[in-house]
Amino acid sequence: MADGSFLAPYAVRVENSRGRRHSEPKHPYRNDFQRDRDRVIHSRAFRRLEAKTQVFTRRYSDHFRNRLTHTIEVAQIARTVAAQLGLNVDLVEALALVHDIGHPPFGHAGEKALDSAMRRHGLFFDHNLHALRIVEDFEHRYAAFRGLNLTFEVREGIIKHSHDYDAEEYPELAEYLLRSRPPLEAQLIDITDEIAYASADLDDGYEARLLTLEQIREGLPVFAGFLREAEEHHPDAAEKLQFNEALRRLLDRWVGDLIHNTQQQIKAAGVTSVQGVRECATRIAGLTPEIEQERRQTKQFLYQNLYFSAALEPEKDDAERIIAELFDLWTKQPEKLPLSYQEKAEQEPLARVICDYIAGMTDNYIYEQYGKHFAG
Ligand code: MG
Repeated sequence: MADGSFLAPYAVRVENSRGRRHSEPKHPYRNDFQRDRDRVIHSRAFRRLEAKTQVFTRRYSDHFRNRLTHTIEVAQIARTVAAQLGLNVDLVEALALVHDIGHPPFGHAGEKALDSAMRRHGLFFDHNLHALRIVEDFEHRYAAFRGLNLTFEVREGIIKHSHDYDAEEYPELAEYLLRSRPPLEAQLIDITDEIAYASADLDDGYEARLLTLEQIREGLPVFAGFLREAEEHHPDAAEKLQFNEALRRLLDRWVGDLIHNTQQQIKAAGVTSVQGVRECATRIAGLTPEIEQERRQTKQFLYQNLYFSAALEPEKDDAERIIAELFDLWTKQPEKLPLSYQEKAEQEPLARVICDYIAGMTDNYIYEQYGKHFAG
């Protein structure tokens, strides 16, 4: 058992941080990664996650996950895994809390719609790059500088947690050591994100009655096995409670596998330092092939039966239409943008400015904007 105070030799040490863009005096009782975590929590972009769709809009239920509660679940799982592996829990927590901060309104559909709108102008939208812009520029909390002035390791993790960017293609990201792997703390985020949303979406999908127990049983043999166990142990329990029992066994199985397999991979790679992690040809944190296969199967199942289900179509159509029409309106009539964005458009392509404006919006706010400009 590890409580997070032990640091393995391959963990990032806060005293070895490459530091902030603008130097700041040390805080008396919080280290730099704890301060970064707190800066993320106190940012506006973080608070907005509450009103951004993860999978289900508020039309379904107030107790389904939104981007904020999803983020908190990722942080919970990532902290647990990091503590067991002797990784830097403060850094992991900061990275987990910031990992979805660049997401536009309307979940995945919103991201796709915004990207399509940008591609019509020869540009594109990428939520990791957008997250970096938020923490580097859009957040205004300090008199001395723009952005949150986060440490290098948190900014690097924002960019590199989910995939590698090509160094030739992104020369502007050169400082983030694109040719080397990110530290294990960042590598963990991607897989804990996958684990968190797969189990949460099964839960919300079942509760929304878009997924039936029979469907899940048929599509996911591992889940079916756990469900049989739960039914045997708790034959009189309500179906939802049997479902819960099965789901938490599944979550435990995946998280346990992530911990043990990552430990094995660290040993197999002979890694004994952060530099060693960086120099590996591939990422080290991950699931065993068997469990990875299960996770993929679950993801596929969710795509087929939930994300692409007819029940969620109306929201997806809304997302596409609203984003496309607002984007188009502000492209043709930039004078309808707020003044601060009109000023920004003097320095940057108008499409980029419109994209930044829309990406920052919550679901509520974009509906409001749409109503204002396209009423009746
Ligand atoms: Mg996520």
